[in-house]
Amino acid sequence: MTQNTTAASAGAPAWECDQDLCMTCGICASACPVAGIDAYDPRRLVRMAALGRTRELVEARWPWICTMCGKCEQLCPMGVRIADMVRGIRSLRERDRVPGILHKGLAAALETGNNLRLPKEDYLFILEDVAGEIREEPGFEGFQVQIDRKGARILTTIHNKLVNTHTEDLKHWWKIFHAAGESWTVASENWEGTSWGYFTGDDAAMKVMAGRILEQMEALGIETLLWPE
Ligand code: SF4
Ligand code: SF4
Repeated sequence: MTQNTTAASAGAPAWECDQDLCMTCGICASACPVAGIDAYDPRRLVRMAALGRTRELVEARWPWICTMCGKCEQLCPMGVRIADMVRGIRSLRERDRVPGILHKGLAAALETGNNLRLPKEDYLFILEDVAGEIREEPGFEGFQVQIDRKGARILTTIHNKLVNTHTEDLKHWWKIFHAAGESWTVASENWEGTSWGYFTGDDAAMKVMAGRILEQMEALGIETLLWPE
């Protein structure tokens, strides 16, 4: 990833969110789960965009407070797409000025296939360890983790926290697959399901990561993707 260019300069469009239609009703602000943090107010964000104060928005912390949950968009009577606008604003910030964890995680994902830089052997060890714990539970004695299984019905990506701090959540998915007799698999490489290219407005990075998943599906002959992010 080029460190000192913006995603926008790499070809990503600016946003189109119909901010000029805003009638300042404030419904978005009352629905927003993070409104008030550092005085964040999506209505004011939209007004600033409507007034053409783009550079101020790009430099501000506000666009990085938004979770891009989309709740405001569902309720806005004028159909203003605030989450799209937030992503567009983020895309205009220089990549090496994207907030730390997102920037580092995305760089790691592009270089290593996952946001944690987790080596393949450690990742596989964790998967087998979790599988072993599942086998200790009644009714799951025959459980096997399915890695790079050709012809499986489902390929499922893995959120990096599931092989880091939340392995219990990984068990839930796998136990459901097992109990349902599902044909499933996980990839041994490029398994990351969290695309911070999406959240940082980096379309080029997002394309790389999505493309890797597609290549895996084609190589394994799988038609269904479960992308639990
Ligand atoms: S809900 Fe829509 S119209 Fe109302 S203030 Fe927010 S963006 Fe503007
Ligand atoms: S998308 Fe952003 S602005 Fe809209 S409700 Fe969610 S956090 Fe608030």
